[in-house]
Amino acid sequence: ASRDMLRSALLAASRSGALRTFAEDSPLLRPVVDRFVAGTTVDEAVAAARALVADRLVTVDHLGEDTTEPEQAAATVEAYLVLLRRLSDDGLADRVEVSVKLSALGQSLPGGDAGKIALDHARRICEAAHAAGTTVTVDMEGHTTTDSTLGIVRELRVDHPWVGAVVQAALRRTEGDCRELAGSRVRLCKGAYDEPASVAFRERAEVDRSFVRCLRILMAGSGLPMVATHDPVLIDIARHLGRGRPYELQMLHGVRPGEQRALAAAGERVRVYLPYGAQWYGYLVRRLAERPANLAFFARSLLTK
Ligand code: FAD
Repeated sequence: ASRDMLRSALLAASRSGALRTFAEDSPLLRPVVDRFVAGTTVDEAVAAARALVADRLVTVDHLGEDTTEPEQAAATVEAYLVLLRRLSDDGLADRVEVSVKLSALGQSLPGGDAGKIALDHARRICEAAHAAGTTVTVDMEGHTTTDSTLGIVRELRVDHPWVGAVVQAALRRTEGDCRELAGSRVRLCKGAYDEPASVAFRERAEVDRSFVRCLRILMAGSGLPMVATHDPVLIDIARHLGRGRPYELQMLHGVRPGEQRALAAAGERVRVYLPYGAQWYGYLVRRLAERPANLAFFARSLLTK
């Protein structure tokens, strides 16, 4: 119970603008940031991706979320266009795709046309990805955005059927979403947001069972299941259910890197989610909420300064 309280407190802190500004300017946090984030510049992101593609695939995420300034959303699009150009010029586009958060592209702007702005921005990124010879996956955020995000993915897929969707096993609706999406590229994850019991499973065991039910649906479909978890039991189940058919295992940069390499060496298709950029606060605090051991690592790095 105390672990759940810590998780909820951290997930609440992950949305605090004041804490975010303080943290992103503080050099004290650098060691823990560096473990999970591939630097702040496109050069650093490309260098980290180049090191990983020796044995793994990569999806690069430009950090940022819940943008309330139109200029910031436009700047995020530009950052992706620069990144995609670099991936293409450096010959990495066949092994490196990008992940985008619609809330960084305008979905959470005030006003009635936020969804349209996010769609237009995402479309420009998809066109650039197509030109570069790679793909885009649209991350999933809090449950109030699920319908809007899946709607935008559907619209993007009219021109770009390869656009990846993400579903979260924690949500009660997700089995139904898996049935609809099973013919396409779908990333299945547990879900990183603190959701109410009305829409989400709150017990870890319930989330795990939902994850397995979703896996069965996706692995029975004709699409590409992308199984995003560090959970060794769920990875084993995915490998078993996926035998003889295409699928991907996905993990976060900095989490279980030895296991990532071992799975790749065993012949698995492994993709690393690689975030970069200055706005790392929300992402990092969600990682701390997932694993109290990460918090201890963080506290130690502060104390040994
Ligand atoms: P957990 O329940 O956190 O951990 C299960 C078990 O995994 C642990 O008991 C332990 O055995 C092992 N484990 C976990 N971490 C470690 C570690 N550091 N060292 C050793 N063992 C460990 N969430 C979203 O809401 N939207 C998204 O779009 C999204 N995209 C994602 C993309 C990728 C590639 C990944 C990997 C995750 C993504 N997530 C996303 C986050 C996801 O929802 C979970 O919050 C996160 O992955 C933690 O859950 P878990 O499945 O790894 O299992």
